[in-house]
Amino acid sequence: MNTLIVSLFLFLTMPTDTTTQTRFTVRELPYAYDALAPHISEETMRYHHDKHYAGYVDKLNELIIDTPHATQPLEDIILSSDGPIFNNAAQVWNHEFFFDQLSPTPQQQPSGAFKEAIDRSFGSFAQMKAQMSKAAAGLFGSGWVWLVEDKTGRLAIVSEQNAGNPLRHGMKPLLGIDVWEHAYYIDYRNRRADSVAALWNCIDWKIVGERYNRK
Ligand code: MN
Repeated sequence: MNTLIVSLFLFLTMPTDTTTQTRFTVRELPYAYDALAPHISEETMRYHHDKHYAGYVDKLNELIIDTPHATQPLEDIILSSDGPIFNNAAQVWNHEFFFDQLSPTPQQQPSGAFKEAIDRSFGSFAQMKAQMSKAAAGLFGSGWVWLVEDKTGRLAIVSEQNAGNPLRHGMKPLLGIDVWEHAYYIDYRNRRADSVAALWNCIDWKIVGERYNRK
């Protein structure tokens, strides 16, 4: 009995808090840093992944220590936080989502039920891309332009400032375009529209379609 109590005591006082340790880790890119060139240069990918994205991961780990968010999954943090914790959590999620949807050998067009949904909501794939490009060019300051599925099952394009993420509005993100200057300034300087035009060459519609099909 005494042994049990001692064990229980030890268990309860054990540092179960990974909270004071590194909770989130930087995910590797699913392709080489130079794989998306010439559309996105190796230098941009190194800065974007190793400095900006990794910086958000480090900052988030630091900010959540000893807060109610310390043990939450990333999506729960995004849904329940504000201020710096939300900003860094959302930027971690947004960047992993962004890097994952790119490929050096992308499927160039959407297919199946996803293609039909695009046609229903936008008229055509070309019109969807045109609307999203326009939203990306027109977003003032830093932010993200998202292709989402809303609660009614309709696809829509949503612009968000800064770290804004459509999960906060109960929408399902399918594709995210990062329009922060750090995403394009090395390669395209002030020409954000050109960077978005180039980015289309790297979007893997197979991956985006799988997100749509995942219920
Ligand atoms: Mn970024």
